Amino acid sequence: SKILFNNEIIERNNIVDIEDRAYQFGDGIYEVIGVYNGTPLMLDEHMERLKRSAREIRLNLPEPTANLKRRLEELVSVNDLEEGIIYMQISRGIASREHYFPGDDVPPVTVAYTREEDRMTDVEDQGAKAVLADDIRWLRCDIKTLNLLPNAMAKQEAVENGAVEAILHRGNTVTEASASNVFMVKDGALYTHPADNYILNGITRKKLLQLASELGIKTHEETFTVDELLAADEVFVSATKLDVIPILKVDDHTIDNGLPGNITQKLVKAFRSLYEQDPES
Ligand code: PLP
Repeated sequence: SKILFNNEIIERNNIVDIEDRAYQFGDGIYEVIGVYNGTPLMLDEHMERLKRSAREIRLNLPEPTANLKRRLEELVSVNDLEEGIIYMQISRGIASREHYFPGDDVPPVTVAYTREEDRMTDVEDQGAKAVLADDIRWLRCDIKTLNLLPNAMAKQEAVENGAVEAILHRGNTVTEASASNVFMVKDGALYTHPADNYILNGITRKKLLQLASELGIKTHEETFTVDELLAADEVFVSATKLDVIPILKVDDHTIDNGLPGNITQKLVKAFRSLYEQDPES
């Protein structure tokens, strides 16, 4: 398949440069965008977040996001992608290895590719297990940067324990999961960590909060503790392409009756309606 490389769509080949700052410092930002029925979902929202990430790490985007957006749509089209993701990263560029930023003459390096990926509808319907892990990340988790080693280590722990996710906590406070946001339901209301520097403000998270409000579900962007999580009526995680995954067990604690909850299922359904094609049309 083809890739986007600095505003050109070319054959995928070995493009890594040893002095690309993404490679040596994780100095760059990225986005993962879900593609459903050949259409990227919430692409504008992803572009807005990319712009914010760039601003926060003081990286000048190589071109307006409107152009990037058009290029990504083109990539989906030339690769005939129906179901899957677009991955895009922008690094601070290739320069002689020094920790400080290179000069303005060094352009950022943009790479994007697509990957076929099936929807996780089975897990969405049946639910899955999660483990708890210490949140050992830095204090700017709101920026979608390439530095994902703590996330990778937490996810590995989950996988080794037969779980889909590692739910992270700083002290007693649940923040998010290794690659998704965490929600809980208590007494009919939905809770998730506020969008501050301790979490990535997920595009799926934001959409789910909106859908919940539309369904008349009370939403609270408030912190909650590990004990509150374990005592919740429902728990789920959300992320691009994962969408909404009910969490039935956290470590050895079964959440409520161990079945996907009512509000979780409502949100699964509401989220699906964003991309499911109307059979009449
Ligand atoms: N939190 C983290 C740490 C993530 O890596 C992700 C990415 O998938 C999310 C949350 C969810 O964000 P989004 O819904 O935009 O995919």
